[in-house]
Amino acid sequence: MKEHMRRGDRPELMWGLGLTEAQKKQIESAVGPGFFLRNFPEGKLPWNKELNQAEKPSATWIPMKVWKDISDNRKEEYKRLEDTQRILIQDEQDDPVEMEQVLEQGFLTVITSPLTRRKVQDAVFRAKEVTSMYSDIYRMTEEIMLERELLARKTDQLLFLNRVLTTCTESLDPAIILANAKENLNMLLPVYELHAVFWQHQEASGLTNVEMFLDRKADSRQENEWMETLLDCAERMGGGTISGFQITHIDLVNRPAMGTASRNGRVVTMPLAAGSTHFGSLVLTVDSGVRMGKDEVDTFKAAANHLGLALRNALTFKEVKLRADHDALTRIYNRHTFDERLVYELKRRQRYGHELSLLMVDLDHFKNVNDTYGHKAGDMVLKEMGRILRSALRSTDLAARYGGEEFVVLLPHTSEADAHMLAERIRSRVQKAAFSFEDRDFSVTASIGVASLESGCFSRDEDLLLKADKALYEAKHNGRNMVVVSNGRDTTCSARQ
Ligand code: GH3
Ligand code: MG
Ligand code: MG
Repeated sequence: MKEHMRRGDRPELMWGLGLTEAQKKQIESAVGPGFFLRNFPEGKLPWNKELNQAEKPSATWIPMKVWKDISDNRKEEYKRLEDTQRILIQDEQDDPVEMEQVLEQGFLTVITSPLTRRKVQDAVFRAKEVTSMYSDIYRMTEEIMLERELLARKTDQLLFLNRVLTTCTESLDPAIILANAKENLNMLLPVYELHAVFWQHQEASGLTNVEMFLDRKADSRQENEWMETLLDCAERMGGGTISGFQITHIDLVNRPAMGTASRNGRVVTMPLAAGSTHFGSLVLTVDSGVRMGKDEVDTFKAAANHLGLALRNALTFKEVKLRADHDALTRIYNRHTFDERLVYELKRRQRYGHELSLLMVDLDHFKNVNDTYGHKAGDMVLKEMGRILRSALRSTDLAARYGGEEFVVLLPHTSEADAHMLAERIRSRVQKAAFSFEDRDFSVTASIGVASLESGCFSRDEDLLLKADKALYEAKHNGRNMVVVSNGRDTTCSARQ
């Protein structure tokens, strides 16, 4: 189809099938040097090798006498050659043919001998016209297909945006909005996990409160990693020191789980803004094999914008004034949360009469750590304490920073003996933790007071905290780095290691 474009580099190829010398000469002289006419003798008509050559003849000249003798299946092969226009040559001695018959046989035209210059040029001209028409149609078809693909893509994107817009205003619960968002974003690309973080900066104090929404799919180790990632994100984009945070899980119960592995995809951060102020960010893991086109990225961004606005509305509506329930430094709960939870657990115990234990943990001579290695080193130790407590507990236990270097652990359904064992494990882990600050190695120890309420509805419980505190005092008094259990009658000291 493109052969005519080669003109100028080299002559355009035409074929003759069994032309006489005279016919060949007549055609050649009519078309001039811009063409090369390759004539195949009757006994050696083009077959596999020639038919498959890359360069196809723009026109093929065939005397009627030759055409008649070609076998039917060969005729079919010649007819199937799309890029060449076949021209039939009729001699005076041939039987006359109807134009209709000629066309039926797939010929472009028929010309009669003698092959005058005008007739030959006319036929070549028509051949070229048809060929260029074919290539126009071909190109147009290609363009139409492309248009159609683009339209289908646009339609998908509009459907997607419509879905996002509709579903994100259906609920005023941020967790539900996010769960829906995850499902909808999957229309555009496979999303394995979706987490979100929002922050609120308080001008007066210069502190920032953070609210996180974590995808339930992550296990606890991954959840810790995500928490760090999201807090990092809030710190970088939100400005100010994070004073505390709250975690909510995006519940995807009753929803089909997408993908399998967590964290295996590509991590994509989508900042959420109202005007020029960033107030949050979505963090997704998406299929790393997917490459999005620019239009899809734009659609995705538009969706994120809508989502951001809906989420902000939801947050304001619920007046989730970013109630921080975690301590930012140690990343465990704060005292406020512990106090609430203690009241709740005591009430439950009154009703069901189960066991309840409490640990009070205080670092020994912590002032010395600050004085010797600096406040930063002290903070590092406190952070590690948070990690030790988090990793030592069950999900029903609650560890909180009670203040300064003092921690509490609430253990529902836990006997005094089990609480004692856990306290001992924590004490030993603290002692074994190796710290290094500015090339100086050191370690710390902790004293722990344990108090328990036995099972039974009638035991008194008001002084659980007080008893733990007394046991802790006892541990300090008796030399520190030890666990003391308060049994309500008197205190017993565990062996010092
Ligand atoms: P003891 O064994 O009797 O508990 O001695 P201690 O030094 O640990 O107790 P004290 O109550 O005298 O001192 C507690 C220290 O904890 C004082 C304070 O500087 C430090 N501290 C409290 N909060 C923080 C904090 O957030 N970061 C750092 N680096 N230090 C803190
Ligand atoms: Mg202390
Ligand atoms: Mg203290």
